[in-house]
Amino acid sequence: MPKVFPFHAAADPVYHDNDQCKKGQEVPLERRLKGNEGKPLCKECAELDQLGK
Ligand SMILES: [Zn+2]
Repeated sequence: MPKVFPFHAAADPVYHDNDQCKKGQEVPLERRLKGNEGKPLCKECAELDQLGK
C-alpha cells in the first residue's frame, strides 16, 4: 500500500497520505507541507487506504 508521509497544501482543507490520490497528486512537491495540521484526511485518501491501495 503506497502510503506516504502525511502532507497538505496550505490552501487545502484536508490532508493526504496516499500517493494514488488524484487530488494529492495535484499538489506540487514544493508546495507539500509535512503533517496534517489538524486537518481531516481527504476522502479519496481514506477510500484508497480502506481498499488497501
Ligand atoms: Zn487525498
